[in-house]
Amino acid sequence: MTDRVTKSDKDWRESLTREQYRVTRQHGTERAFTGAYWDTKTPGTYRCVCCGQELFSSRTKYDSGSGWPSFYEPYGEAAVETSEDRTLGTARTEVHCARCAAHLGHVFPDGPQPTGLRYCINSASLDLQPEESHD
Ligand code: FE
Repeated sequence: MTDRVTKSDKDWRESLTREQYRVTRQHGTERAFTGAYWDTKTPGTYRCVCCGQELFSSRTKYDSGSGWPSFYEPYGEAAVETSEDRTLGTARTEVHCARCAAHLGHVFPDGPQPTGLRYCINSASLDLQPEESHD
């Protein structure tokens, strides 16, 4: 079990940028090809912008062509949780941070091996912590 993080709506609003708040706390979606990380190849760990939990590793990031950061696997089994999203007239699987419930994006069954999954994630929900360089 992870230690859950809960904050009031006011606290989230004050600790996030407008775009971060809109995406993570209001289930928003950033426009394709506009986020900070859709084309990022920097090695490192993507943390939750809300609570700092490790969500995805750059090692599982791939170019899906979608315009959003895409990963084939979460950082660990307990990092993210999913729920059914029936908005927009289709059934999609919504992905959120297991620790603070931040909305991250959606997961689709059209990703590469070894998982066959595509975690399609908003840059605005992520904070990349680059790996320390050793040169
Ligand atoms: Fe979080």
